[in-house]
Amino acid sequence: MALRNNRLTNEEYDEHFSDIHPPFETHNAALVEANRCLFCYDAPCTKSCPTSINVPKFIKQITTENLKGAAYTIFSANIMGGGCSKVCPVEKLCEGACVYNLMEEAPIPIAKLQRYATERAIHEKWPLFTRQASNGKKVAVIGAGPAGLSCAHALSREGVEVTIYEKEGKGGGLMTYGIAAYKVTPQFCQEEVDYITSLGGIHVLYNMQLGKDVLLETLQQEYDAVYLAFGVGMARQLAISGEQLNGVVDAIRFIYEIRTKGYPEVPVGESVAVIGLGMTAIDAATQAMRLGAKEVTLVYRRTEAEMPCTAAELNIAKLDGCNIIWLAAPKEIVGENGHVKTLVCEVMRLDERKLPVGTGELISLNVDMVIKATGQLPYTMAAPKIDNEHGRVLINEHAATNLPGVFAGGDCVNGGKEVVDAVQAGKEGAKAILKYLFREVE
Ligand code: SF4
Repeated sequence: MALRNNRLTNEEYDEHFSDIHPPFETHNAALVEANRCLFCYDAPCTKSCPTSINVPKFIKQITTENLKGAAYTIFSANIMGGGCSKVCPVEKLCEGACVYNLMEEAPIPIAKLQRYATERAIHEKWPLFTRQASNGKKVAVIGAGPAGLSCAHALSREGVEVTIYEKEGKGGGLMTYGIAAYKVTPQFCQEEVDYITSLGGIHVLYNMQLGKDVLLETLQQEYDAVYLAFGVGMARQLAISGEQLNGVVDAIRFIYEIRTKGYPEVPVGESVAVIGLGMTAIDAATQAMRLGAKEVTLVYRRTEAEMPCTAAELNIAKLDGCNIIWLAAPKEIVGENGHVKTLVCEVMRLDERKLPVGTGELISLNVDMVIKATGQLPYTMAAPKIDNEHGRVLINEHAATNLPGVFAGGDCVNGGKEVVDAVQAGKEGAKAILKYLFREVE
């Protein structure tokens, strides 16, 4: 057993990584679903969306053939409404709140309808927004991910000149580099970033890392305000013996490689264990399977009731043929000739507070690859003078940090939530910055 790339034919890779949620095939198919909407007053779908997209309004606009209006309604609440329609866990957000669930009928496919309107807008480059005349203010944004782009777009609309410093070679952040390729393609992510920046007034400087290529002190001097949206950093370590063996990789790195190299280039084991059961763990496990692994096992130390992924995510893994071992925690990775051979896990039980505790019983899995997906550590080294709590940037109710004129939002503040939460944080950050720039509230 060994890690190997090029396990499949090109046709197989294309099939395995094709769009998991295909769009409507015809306009009529979209209309049929849109016309099922009850256009609820005080709509629960809107209330459950972190960006408060007016769902009944945009669906109504689709039914009246006003697709541009629908796209505008979505984007004015969530400028990444296109990407979010592909990656949001809608079963626990808008679609999970749809009143049809109470009638035990299928909810309105809100994400698919949202995709229907926004994808057209992005592909056809509809100029839905205009900028106010320049007001002479300049803001630096760190990170071209969802929070940074959302903040930049909202500021630019108000006439602020925005410069984004992005450490990678492309924008989109987690959307571009950290999500399964069968949910959203790198090409779409690029189109989405281009669409957002086509507003004007947003200049993106790539391969510029805070703390290395540019210093926060310099930005504070050169700009009227700074918005930190640099996300989270390194993968959390397991802190068990054998972690340095060949064949042990972190899920973020594994997914990053799938997103940046061609599928045949990415090596995968024949028998793979994935530690964790969050969305990243599911994305790593399913993609390992789709790259040609024979067997993939997700190892989680609690039960299904506590799992961080949604039931829909878990179903994707099950349908892909992944195994799940509940109530097991990694104890040791045993190697042979420097390479992973066995993952030893301890069987756990939950105590009265639902915390996992070891039982002393051990189980062994013969694997040649271990993927660690137990979360990421906040990335604070870039801005050492910023107050933080366990690495998360601390902000007040105005999104302001302890440094004057420096604001923050998104994953670097919350430790890592959904893309849609980061978009909302970016909107709130922009609002706070505009107040700071023009009303001197802070
Ligand atoms: Fe339409 Fe469902 Fe939202 Fe009601 S809850 S407005 S039916 S999508």
